[in-house]
Amino acid sequence: MNSQPLAGRVALVTGASSGIGSACALALADAGAAVAVGFSANRSGADDVVARILERGGAATTIGADLSDPAAAITLVDTTVKELGGIDIVVNNAGITRDNLAVRITDADWDAVIAVDLSAAFRICRAALRPMLRRRDGRIINISSIAGVVGNPGQANYSAAKAGLIGLTKSLCREVGSRAITVNAVAPGFIATEMTKVLGDELLAAVTATIPLRRIGTAEEVAAAVRFLALPEAAYITGHVLHVDGGLAA
Ligand code: NAD
Repeated sequence: MNSQPLAGRVALVTGASSGIGSACALALADAGAAVAVGFSANRSGADDVVARILERGGAATTIGADLSDPAAAITLVDTTVKELGGIDIVVNNAGITRDNLAVRITDADWDAVIAVDLSAAFRICRAALRPMLRRRDGRIINISSIAGVVGNPGQANYSAAKAGLIGLTKSLCREVGSRAITVNAVAPGFIATEMTKVLGDELLAAVTATIPLRRIGTAEEVAAAVRFLALPEAAYITGHVLHVDGGLAA
């Protein structure tokens, strides 16, 4: 079996300084891709991911850009192309939560979540699709959430953004399929990262009891799904929402 099926490919992963994003960056690099590690505040986390990739003989670079700034998408895509020589795979992973009951969600918390979780992903797709369309090749993988599939009380802003990513994925798949570009979403359930740590042990134990596989998932398990969707073997899969949730949404 080819241990480097993504050799010669370039991937941009947003929010890759921690959690699911860093696991995706490492998995794609292990498969042979050169990886642009997007980060905002956590430069040391991003540097650490790049160091681990270089140690394993891969190629990677960090790109700092705050995705609440509309200009960040162009910075990320253009810098990826300039520093790594192209852009073949995009993983829109960066995301935030500002949880509250809908009646208490402020305009600022609504706008912040939509900006980072949805609008930034759209802008990155738009910027990355230009070179992909020219080359008639490309993979876009949007990290949605089970909260965008089934909804979740206390997460109206986050659910709306993550459901929006699924709509974006399906429309884009129809727009660019004729150019051999695939666009898919991965919808994780509860995954052990900083994002879920804040929920506390008691709530996580209660949630775990409702998951058919009776455990929280790992960032590496989400990264394995992302890696698969980037592989040549997944060339005929597009517009799909791949649940990595231990059966939570079944
Ligand atoms: P995380 O907090 O470790 O990762 C979020 C990443 O997004 C971080 O690297 C952070 O720096 C980056 N980010 C946040 N705001 C940004 C901004 N303004 N500009 C650029 N980058 C920014 O948590 P995670 O669990 O690894 O989350 C990764 C993705 O997975 C998110 O989109 C999240 O919604 C999604 N997700 C996570 C879970 C889970 O249970 N952990 C479940 C479903 C979906």
